[in-house]
Amino acid sequence: MIAPAPLTVNGRRYAAPRRPTVVVCVDGCEPEYINQAITAGRAPFLASLRERGTCLTADCVVPSFTNPNNLSIVTGAPPSVHGICGNYFWDREAGAEVMMNDPKYLRAGTILAALADAGAKVAVVTAKDKLRALLGHRMQGICFSSEKAADATQAGNGIDDVVALVGMPVPSVYSAALSEFVFAAGVKLIERGPLDVMYLSTTDYIQHKAAPGVGAANDFYAMMDGYLARLDALGATLVVTADHGMNAKTDAFGRPNVIYLQDVLDAAYGAGTTRVILPITDPYVVHHGALGSFATVYLSPPVAVAAASAHVAALPGMEEVLLRDEACRRFELPPDRVGDLVLVSERLSVIGTSRARHDLSGLDVPLRSHGGISEQQVPLISNRAAPALPAGRRWRNFDAFDLALNHLA
Ligand SMILES: [Zn+2]
Repeated sequence: MIAPAPLTVNGRRYAAPRRPTVVVCVDGCEPEYINQAITAGRAPFLASLRERGTCLTADCVVPSFTNPNNLSIVTGAPPSVHGICGNYFWDREAGAEVMMNDPKYLRAGTILAALADAGAKVAVVTAKDKLRALLGHRMQGICFSSEKAADATQAGNGIDDVVALVGMPVPSVYSAALSEFVFAAGVKLIERGPLDVMYLSTTDYIQHKAAPGVGAANDFYAMMDGYLARLDALGATLVVTADHGMNAKTDAFGRPNVIYLQDVLDAAYGAGTTRVILPITDPYVVHHGALGSFATVYLSPPVAVAAASAHVAALPGMEEVLLRDEACRRFELPPDRVGDLVLVSERLSVIGTSRARHDLSGLDVPLRSHGGISEQQVPLISNRAAPALPAGRRWRNFDAFDLALNHLA
């Protein structure tokens, strides 16, 4: 039973769900993917929402990466509040470069956990297992990944026999099917009920490979459209958003435009005086070679911040170079997890460390990636009307639960 009273989570108020409410984070979903799928006639359900639903364009969190944005969506707050500002960071206390997958790095509670504590039945399904522990932190309910669906247990994940329930084999971690498994599981969980709130998070395997409107992209959105239509038919309230957009990061011949920043800094200041951290780094690098449009740099004496900043700002393809405090104010980041400089590259460029540290042999198509301001705009769509939205509001993807619970008819 759900407590009828509104909840307050991280300073924001949320009304109790009145119907099964499903928030979907479509990894790497540039708005144009949906537009092109609709135009090609491959997404009739999404097309039908033009008449009866809501379509906003929202800004995600910069760095426009997966973990910071998924955590922003489920906490309703920016990384300055929840602490997760990358997949990967330099842990000053530990003196080591570490993955930020561990819930010990999370500084805020989630809306999902608070709803569960208030008595709501909550489920989370994520494609890759790397997000599961963060999304399900201190949450009573169902929480599993497609990747490790076969290992889900009642004790560890709040559910047994996921594979039998979903009726699909566990897909490869590098496949569109890994995301399809998320949607298929979501439909089965709503059918089975009772469920009040569900969060579904896919993987951007297809978006890294295929531009909007290309065959594989339209196939993905046609698949998604079918599952969303089923969730809608089951009476669910849907809010669909994305963690970040996606862009080609190449020249006209399809060759990656890479700023090998550690090589540039080593040449200017000597090896060992600067440390380039790429927060896109994660164990699943095949589709992007750990190349994205955002980096942070730690400087050691005698390298001066102003001189280093001016040096890198002049590099072709660089869009913004900000000092730590300025970057943390502008992008709402936790200052203790950000280097002396924050760098954002332009739409067609990515930032690397040293050339020798990037294995691009796994790139079988021209590089597409994200991380920058150029990938900040994402869709924020619902299957219900929002009759009284405040005019002039800058919507964020982490307003997804606010829209779902507080604004829809
Ligand atoms: Zn992502």
